[in-house]
Amino acid sequence: MIDVCLPGTGGMIPLPDRWLTCCWIEYQGSAVLIDCGEGTQIALKEAGCKPSRLAVLLITHFHADHVAGLVGLLLTLCNHSRAEPLTVAGPPGLRRVVSSLTIIAPRLTFPLEIIELDKNNPVPLEKAGLTVYAAPLRHGTTCFGYKVELKRKPVFNPQKAAALNIPVTFYKALHNGETVTLDDGETIKPEQVLDGARKPITVCYVTDTRPFAGLAGFAEGVDLLIGEGMYFDEQMREKVEEKNHMLFSDSAELAKKSGAKRLWLTHYSPALERPRDGVKIAERIFPKSEAAYDGIRLTIDG
Ligand SMILES: [Zn+2]
Ligand SMILES: [Zn+2]
Repeated sequence: MIDVCLPGTGGMIPLPDRWLTCCWIEYQGSAVLIDCGEGTQIALKEAGCKPSRLAVLLITHFHADHVAGLVGLLLTLCNHSRAEPLTVAGPPGLRRVVSSLTIIAPRLTFPLEIIELDKNNPVPLEKAGLTVYAAPLRHGTTCFGYKVELKRKPVFNPQKAAALNIPVTFYKALHNGETVTLDDGETIKPEQVLDGARKPITVCYVTDTRPFAGLAGFAEGVDLLIGEGMYFDEQMREKVEEKNHMLFSDSAELAKKSGAKRLWLTHYSPALERPRDGVKIAERIFPKSEAAYDGIRLTIDG
C-alpha cells in the first residue's frame, strides 16, 4: 500500500492558491518527493506531508519551477535537526546545480547523496523499499519522467503449508522467498506454499514533455498516471508544441494508450484559472481523468 499526494499542481510560478507541481509518494513511513520548485517546503506542510520522512528527492529537470525550492527544503530539514542522509537524483549536471543552489546553505546537518542519472539509459534506483525508473522525455532540455514501483510478495497460502505439515515457525522465511529444511530433513521451496506473482503498484509522473512513441510503454498499466495539463484549450496546441508541453488531451491520450488505471492532470499554466473546467475534454478520451488540485491524495492498495 502506498500513499500519493500532489502538494502542488502549478507550472512556471507559484500562485497564492497553487504551489508548483510536485509529487509525494510514501511507503511505510519513508517518502519519495518528485520535483521541488519554489516554496515546496510550504506546500508539503500544507498538504500534511512530513519532511522528516523524506528519503529520496527526484528532480525531473533544471527549470526553476522544478528545482528552485531545493535550498528552502534542505534548510527546513536542517531546522528539523535531520541527521540521516538524503538521496537527490536527477539529470546529469545535478551535482553542479545542487552545489550552486546550496551556496547560501553551506552547512547542512545531514549528508547529501547525489546521483546523476545517465541521460539516455538511466539505471533504476532501489530506495525506501521502492524501485524508481526514469525515462528521458522530450522537453528541449534533459528531463526525466519517473515511475515509482512497489514490488509485492506473492500471497502466502497457509492451506498449502498445512497440507505439507510445515511448522508455523518456517512461514515467514518461506514468504520471504527462502528455501527451508524441516526438522525431518525435508526441503521446502517457497513456490510450494506461495500463490502466483502479484502485479506491483506503480505511479508514473510525466510532465514537461511532448508525447512521443515509447512513452506509453513506460507508463504501461500503471495504477496512477500523473500527466501534464498545461492548458485544456486546443487553441493552445501550437504554443504547447513549440514549448514542449502537453495539453489535457495529450495526457488523456497517453493514459488511454498506456492502459493506466487513472489519470491526474497537473502542471497548469498560471493563466489557467479553473483547470476543472477542462476535465470533460480529458474524460472524453480517458474517462478516469481528474484535474488534480493542491493536496489531492490517494492510497493505492493494488
Ligand atoms: Zn515546468
Ligand atoms: Zn520545464
